Amino acid sequence: MTQVLEVSEMSVSFPRRSGLLGKSQPLRVVENVSFEVGKGEVVALVGESGSGKSTIARAVLRLLPIDNGRITLADVDITTLSQRALRPHRRNAQLVFQDPYSSLDPSMTAIEIVEEPLRGFAMSREERLRSAQELLASVGLAGVEGRYPYEFSGGQRQRIAIARALAPRPALIICDEPVSALDLSTQNQIISLLDSLRQSLGVSYLFISHDLSVVRRIADRVLVMYAGEIVEEGPTERVFRDPVHPYTLALLSAVPAVVGDRSKHAKRIVLEGDLPVPGAPPPGCRFHTRCPFAMDVCRSEVPAWTEFDHGVSGRCHLHTSGSTLGFSGLTQFAEDAMASTDRDRGQTSI
Ligand code: SF4
Repeated sequence: MTQVLEVSEMSVSFPRRSGLLGKSQPLRVVENVSFEVGKGEVVALVGESGSGKSTIARAVLRLLPIDNGRITLADVDITTLSQRALRPHRRNAQLVFQDPYSSLDPSMTAIEIVEEPLRGFAMSREERLRSAQELLASVGLAGVEGRYPYEFSGGQRQRIAIARALAPRPALIICDEPVSALDLSTQNQIISLLDSLRQSLGVSYLFISHDLSVVRRIADRVLVMYAGEIVEEGPTERVFRDPVHPYTLALLSAVPAVVGDRSKHAKRIVLEGDLPVPGAPPPGCRFHTRCPFAMDVCRSEVPAWTEFDHGVSGRCHLHTSGSTLGFSGLTQFAEDAMASTDRDRGQTSI
């Protein structure tokens, strides 16, 4: 598969002021992440708020500096390009935000909003306006060119944002929680629209979401983030059916509808405690402070990245420390543990 985005061992830090002299200390919020997005592929980044998903999105667009790693966008290594040299390549990756109202200029009409990204192209104004009109029609908004953002519903505003993102014909659209501000039926419409645009235009998406039921509908592959690192990765259906990381299992248990027949038996796993403070993860496995399966080795040694026969990869000592608990037994183990505790509450805290 042709890759439109390749991210290799990328780390991102934020400066933090501390101490009496206010010295700046870097805070490592994303650690050595590597992944690809293929042409026409939808790759989802999932995880709790604060896990580093949106930081990755901004870093791959070079809106944030990175500490190390490499970013290749549409076959061009953009890692160290100057802002000036980067300009012609920016069109290849566009961003759709969660809140379309705040991301649309309220003083511009719908057609002006969609036409604006085309102004750097060798096109006459008439050509740009015609293209913007066609884009609005392609997202189901024909005949509304002269209206302002406040005159549209939330779902319609998100359609305008998608049309604007499509305007420069990008290879990749990064969707940062694109439907989480919308009601359920509007969510479904926007997901269907994104999917049909993917099929008709061959555009790829990096789809950031905390909602696994949405992810299951649209994503080919899923990357699970915890405390700034990727802990599991694989084809969506396989990760959902046979996760290899207890954190993924906990996320899935919060959305019973997505785990199929298993949900009839599984109870919800409620994660106790918070994500580690950004930049200060615990030693060993970052999840050990919240994991019900934590062993001694988890508190001191970082688990190795391991590929499994069913095409899913992840990092967890359960599979490499000689534990009898392999990935196929993980869910059963969790279900047994849940069944033996707290039956009456219908959920188990871990
Ligand atoms: Fe849990 Fe240990 Fe696996 Fe981390 S490595 S997820 S603490 S079992």
